[in-house]
Amino acid sequence: MTAPATIARILREAARQLVDAGVDSPEFDAKVLLADVLDTDINQIPLLRNQPISADQRQRLENYLRRRSNREPLQYITGETEFVGHRFRCDPRAMIPRPETELLVGTLAAHCQRHRPEAIIADIGTGCGVIAVSLALLLPYARLYATDVSTEALQLAAENAQLRGVSDRVTFLPGAYLRPLEDAGILEQIQVVVTNPPYVATDDIQDLSPEVRNFEPQQALNGGAQGLDFYRAFLPKCERLPHLQLLATEIGIGQAPAVSSLITEYLTATEVEILPDLAGILRIILAWRE
Ligand code: SAM
Ligand code: GLN
Repeated sequence: MTAPATIARILREAARQLVDAGVDSPEFDAKVLLADVLDTDINQIPLLRNQPISADQRQRLENYLRRRSNREPLQYITGETEFVGHRFRCDPRAMIPRPETELLVGTLAAHCQRHRPEAIIADIGTGCGVIAVSLALLLPYARLYATDVSTEALQLAAENAQLRGVSDRVTFLPGAYLRPLEDAGILEQIQVVVTNPPYVATDDIQDLSPEVRNFEPQQALNGGAQGLDFYRAFLPKCERLPHLQLLATEIGIGQAPAVSSLITEYLTATEVEILPDLAGILRIILAWRE
């Protein structure tokens, strides 16, 4: 009779399977999937290395590995992700939040904490809700409105607001651009707008990793021929926000000149600040209005 496989051996085999599938971080992913199956934290795995796993756990791991080898994103398999230190539910109803968006949230929160702790903020295209919900956590006196064209994404975002205990200060409204705010009669209240819109040029989508191109919602990524469709449609509408003081937006590689000139064209009396992400790519535009 052969001895049952230990966690150490299962982990090695799992990582090898993910290497063969071309996964970027095979050891880490194998560990995360195994920890999920064992219902433990990844830091506990080394302590369990000589333990066996049950047949049921093994079967669940095999199913996870099959999905990950098919290049389904890790976060869609485990159903969760982390953003500014908080855990959020994550599934194919919305795009997986990216680390660079944490910079957008951190910068905006720091400004509001200092100058505008009671701000009324609109998050346009909220996806799974991480921007609006994190801002609500960081700014306990702020009021947030979060919109999306995808009602599925909004449902997930509402679940995340509930999970993080901020449902009383975040309102979710379906629709495109400023339409949901207009329908709710609150255009005049909005002081701050934040958005991470779809900004990938249509032809560039095919060059993204299989995880992104085959699994994430196209509606969340596709920014039209040059990736600028959202900005071109949205920025002219911002004139209709009489009390807008700050607009903060994420942008794609090389889009800073085009987006900042759209901002100065359509938002009168604005000063523009452009910030790089950790990789040195110009990633965030802040537009301050007098
Ligand atoms: N805010 C989330 C984040 O940062 O992780 C999701 C960002 S994702 C890049 C863009 C989101 O905008 C998607 O959820 C998409 O459905 C939504 N969207 C696309 N076009 C829109 C529009 N015209 N008005 C409102 N939302 C839109
Ligand atoms: N940063 C994302 C990606 O390239 C795109 C997000 C967006 O369009 N806002 O995977």
